[in-house]
Amino acid sequence: MATLEKAVVKGLAEDKGLYMPEQINKLPQSFFDNIEHLSFQEIAYNVAYAFFGDDVELDALKKIVYDTLAFDCPVVPVSDDIYTLELFHGPTLAFKDVGARFMARLLQYFLKKEGNGSEVNVLVATSGDTGSAVANGFLGVDGIKVYVLYPKGKVSPIQECQFTTLGKNITAIEVDGVFDDCQALVKAAFMDEELNKHMKLTSANSINVARFLPQAFYYFYAYAQMKKQGKADQMVMCVPSGNFGNICAALFGHAMGLPIKRFVAANNANDIFYNYLQTGEYRPQPSKATLANAMDVGDPSNFARIYDLYKGDHKAITSLISGATYSDDQIRQTMRQCFAETKYVLDPHGACGYQALKDLLQPGEVGVFCETAHPAKFKEKVDDILQTDIEIPQRLQEFMKGTKQSISMSKEFADFKKFLLSL
Ligand SMILES: *Cc1c(COP(=O)(O)O)cnc(C)c1O
Repeated sequence: MATLEKAVVKGLAEDKGLYMPEQINKLPQSFFDNIEHLSFQEIAYNVAYAFFGDDVELDALKKIVYDTLAFDCPVVPVSDDIYTLELFHGPTLAFKDVGARFMARLLQYFLKKEGNGSEVNVLVATSGDTGSAVANGFLGVDGIKVYVLYPKGKVSPIQECQFTTLGKNITAIEVDGVFDDCQALVKAAFMDEELNKHMKLTSANSINVARFLPQAFYYFYAYAQMKKQGKADQMVMCVPSGNFGNICAALFGHAMGLPIKRFVAANNANDIFYNYLQTGEYRPQPSKATLANAMDVGDPSNFARIYDLYKGDHKAITSLISGATYSDDQIRQTMRQCFAETKYVLDPHGACGYQALKDLLQPGEVGVFCETAHPAKFKEKVDDILQTDIEIPQRLQEFMKGTKQSISMSKEFADFKKFLLSL
């Protein structure tokens, strides 16, 4: 058992396992009866109170929630029975913004409460989107230093500027290797006793409860928007998934009473979860590179949380969650078809979600899939597939004006350790 503070400040448990909430509080029926009249921030505060209300003073919690959610996440119709929940209206146009911003503020709250002037070092490995959301979420936050490890030459230029041009308390580390090497360096650092004596280290990947749980806010608000339109009675929620943090948060919402009928986890060619649903066996694989690269995960870290949430009961899991898996060719075809039929521009991740609903929605159901990235973040791919020239939003262009600053690092842990010990 651990306090929330410990789970947030340490990230990973002592046995290297993931922290889980000890109990999941249900929200009262009156909340759901009235939910369509509440704002995103009001809804999120109620949800945050159920998760964190015992551990954080209410005024502070309210401020954390309201500061975190200074943006919208609208549900938009794509076809008659399929809607999209646009999760890309945050500061870096990534759904990961909500968790990153929330975690930064919560961590700062705990550090202030401790009041011993201690400093926390946040390590984050990224293949692109996580790094930008975390760097921007933590930018300028006192007492926290952030180290973003990313694979050299493997992130898009737009993504790279979102964490290499910020300066202040954000340091970008360019690793001569692939994403798995970055992740291995971060994991090795958490395991290293000498380093942990030298400095306070925590993770801002979705293994940290404060990073993934706030994503539940999105799903309550999606439900509220659908209910307002009288479309929530048989609502199916579809989440394009990689590390399964996002869908895991949605499932926590469901466990708190959110009346979503069932869920679909949409995969690209990395079909580990899909295969688990079919066979009951979880077999991690090396990740395969695909068009939807933020979902190129061969051993999803939040699978353990989902397994635990349903006590390993395969039947319980398959009766609530279905899976789907799509090749790059299918993703391209879906993007083209959706654009031709509806004019909606899908990005490759959202395309998996849309197609999964087309394939799996039953009569009478209404489907909502997450559009997890703004298509402009994958402009080259999207323009090439759809023969378009989509506009890059102002916010993204701003990042591209700064100068790149990063530290070069080999993929050897000894080098990374030496660097951290020198801090
Ligand atoms: C991170 C990410 C995903 C996968 O989310 P998980 O929580 O890891 O399942 C999907 N799409 C995009 C664009 C992402 O950045």
